[in-house]
Amino acid sequence: MADYDIVVLGGGPGGYATALYAASAGLTVALVEANKVGGTCLHRGCIPAKALLHAAEVFRTVSHAGEHGVRLPDGVKPEPDWPAANKRKAGIVGNLHKGLSGLLKRRKVNVVFGWGRLTADGAVAVTGEDGGTQTLSGRAVIICAGSAPRAIPGMDIDGVKVITSDQSTNSDAEKLPERVAVIGGGVIGAEFASVFTDMGVKTTLLEALPNPILPLGPDRDVANVLAKSLARRGLTVHGEARVGTLEHTGSGVVVPFETPKGSDKIEVDQVLVSIGRRPVTEDIGAAEAGVRLTDRGFVDVDPTTMLTSRPGVYAVGDCVNTPGLAHIAYAEAVVAVEHFLGENPVPVDYGKVPWVVYTHPEVAWSGMTEAYAKEAGYDVEVHKHSLAGNGRAMILGETDGLVKIVAQKNGPVLGFHMVGPWASELMHEGYLAVNWEALPSEVGHLIHAHPSLSEAIGETMITFSGRSLHG
Ligand code: NAD
Repeated sequence: MADYDIVVLGGGPGGYATALYAASAGLTVALVEANKVGGTCLHRGCIPAKALLHAAEVFRTVSHAGEHGVRLPDGVKPEPDWPAANKRKAGIVGNLHKGLSGLLKRRKVNVVFGWGRLTADGAVAVTGEDGGTQTLSGRAVIICAGSAPRAIPGMDIDGVKVITSDQSTNSDAEKLPERVAVIGGGVIGAEFASVFTDMGVKTTLLEALPNPILPLGPDRDVANVLAKSLARRGLTVHGEARVGTLEHTGSGVVVPFETPKGSDKIEVDQVLVSIGRRPVTEDIGAAEAGVRLTDRGFVDVDPTTMLTSRPGVYAVGDCVNTPGLAHIAYAEAVVAVEHFLGENPVPVDYGKVPWVVYTHPEVAWSGMTEAYAKEAGYDVEVHKHSLAGNGRAMILGETDGLVKIVAQKNGPVLGFHMVGPWASELMHEGYLAVNWEALPSEVGHLIHAHPSLSEAIGETMITFSGRSLHG
């Protein structure tokens, strides 16, 4: 007789979503967490990073207040207050943590603090801080072990001068560094390059691939709008950069690098390493329990059920090789719980999930890029609409932006891509169109309020009819 219906290993978005959803379906749940419920997303990732991005946005807005008819007293210049930004961020994280802890309690999830390992008989042994061990058995175990930043071999992450997002989202520094090198121009690199650049930090981004800003993932046309905007605001980028051995000097860190243009080096106060994340699966008892890992350490799952190679054991979130996004972990948690309940879950359609990069301007997309659709053999029709002529964008003073829609010729929307203010929120209309397999003409008939940023989406859809209003 098992102690619980479900034992959840790990309390990040995958784990707490599993626990909350299972409990809402009347199941008994234990959740094992080594640190704090909320995981990377709440404590070291999404939430703190977005809070700092918002601080950068407020600083940018106040710095440009004069353009909007709001004069600062003569001689007064806004300055970033890094400790205050971090304090506000910590308050938000603290409130969300309190809320999540309360919610788990109200749903009667038994949160057990300690390090959990699967055992050969499929239970979970939890070692607490005092060294004591308890064993929890469940009718199912759901592994939600998460991920950690990848390091560059030979590069010492000291957490002060050479950091990862674990530290950049949790700075206790009195002031911002004056010069930063960001290694890796993916999602984390681009978001922090955006924060630092807007906060007036001299920022250099070094990316191994040829397109230094978001080289993988988004459609090039939208990534290029972001790249141009960041460059105009002062970010320096180097593509095809190979970073050498860092040298710590009295005044900072020297970062040598090579690009096709030759060798170069820069001295900075801080280096942010953002070259991807790895699953944290080395000490979860996978081998003992007969749970197969891939050669890169991800838990091997059937993505239609999230079941691992061991019956009754599931895995979701960053520890499986699917997009490392909190909302994907949520969706996978629902699939795993519904499968456990004997229901017929709708699997996650990984090619059509929402992606959002919260840079300034924001980049968001769902579905195929133009290049991917063409490679996949589709006869595509593509239309774009810049935000340069959009009334709302002009009012906001944020005209760096573009909507790009990729559709099958005389067929449904295959991909939606947007860069611009609030693309993070506006993209869900595109997400719906992609997943509903809507025809552009169907969406084009729907009315978008005027003046609004959303109008650019409506206009782009209308353009597929061969006619247009403003475009
Ligand atoms: P990433 O995979 O998005 O980008 C890493 C980048 O580093 C790539 O462009 C890669 O080419 C480059 N790179 C790798 N090795 C390098 C090297 N030695 N020198 C220079 N460049 C190198 O990884 P990330 O930005 O670290 O993000 C990690 C994870 O976190 C991702 O799964 C991401 O989805 C998730 N995340 C998502 C969001 C969001 O959705 N807004 C925000 C932050 C993080």
